[in-house]
Amino acid sequence: MRLICRDVTKTYLAPQGNVLALDRISFSTSEAEFVCLVGPSGCGKTTLLKIIAGLVRPTGGEVRYEGPRTGAPLNAMVFQEDSIFPWMSVLDNVAFPLEIRGMPLAERRQIAREFVDRVGLTRFAGHLPGQLSTGMRQRVGIARAFACNPQVLLMDEPFAALDAQMKAILQEELLALWSAHARTIVYVTHDIDEAIFMADRVLVLSTQPGRIVAEVPVPFARPRRPALRGHAEFLTLREHLWSLVRGEVMKVLGGAA
Ligand code: ADP
Ligand code: MG
Repeated sequence: MRLICRDVTKTYLAPQGNVLALDRISFSTSEAEFVCLVGPSGCGKTTLLKIIAGLVRPTGGEVRYEGPRTGAPLNAMVFQEDSIFPWMSVLDNVAFPLEIRGMPLAERRQIAREFVDRVGLTRFAGHLPGQLSTGMRQRVGIARAFACNPQVLLMDEPFAALDAQMKAILQEELLALWSAHARTIVYVTHDIDEAIFMADRVLVLSTQPGRIVAEVPVPFARPRRPALRGHAEFLTLREHLWSLVRGEVMKVLGGAA
């Protein structure tokens, strides 16, 4: 499934004045591409993902999904904060969207178990989210998104609340899941290292209103190993992306880049 955004624009109407959040965002993805969007906070990343998910209506432009319809949902979204239900067990959380789709109990339990296993939560299948660490709860959200088998997966800073070690582990787990269940991923982050480690291509957004200021292909082979983070080419690309993002962040701070 390909995703095509053409001139996506969003103005929020607010009593204090209208906010132009996104200004003519255009990009498209190729089949099973991993695209990262990076940009300073407030630049419209969440707005863009919600528009792609169909949760927010753009004020201009359009989002299209191109490809054969398989009956699977077009997209699923993983949020930064817990997007799982605190009163449901891990297994029930993962199975819930399948239940909504009317899948019979035995089948949805089997699929949910498979993905709970895949994210290493087998022993915690009966636990409630409140009994889990932040990293484990994010694993539940990821398992649930993959279990839905969406054609495009949308992720909004899913690891932003994690410590550095847990973040690195979950990044590798996500890449492993993605390689076993390939599909287009649009992944939002403000973390440049994360974007380079994961993505096939990084789109850099400007400060508000969000515009695409650069599009940077990431040439590294897969599977990506942790040692990649120390390679000279990685560090060069990181410096390049930093220089692009730094300029945007300095605009927010009101300083010179
Ligand atoms: P990001 O995810 O990059 O931090 P957001 O998409 O959350 O950015 O927000 C982009 C801009 O739109 C910000 O200036 C924010 O204050 C504004 N905004 C977001 N949601 C709303 C809303 N519901 N009403 C008014 N303004 C909003
Ligand atoms: Mg956001």
